[in-house]
Amino acid sequence: MAVPKKKTSQSRRDMRRSHHALSAANVNECSNCGEQVRPHHVCTACGHYDGREVVAGAEA
Ligand SMILES: [Zn+2]
Repeated sequence: MAVPKKKTSQSRRDMRRSHHALSAANVNECSNCGEQVRPHHVCTACGHYDGREVVAGAEA
């Protein structure tokens, strides 16, 4: 089994973790109902995409 030769220092560990932060997901407004939708995804509230209904029965 491969074993690290040296203990990772606090500095090196923290430098590695400097890239671990999550960023908020980008959201746009649905052109049909105004609900927040992820780009390139069908609206989960009304089932519309690109100005037309693509998921039947999604409207409540
Ligand atoms: Zn919608």
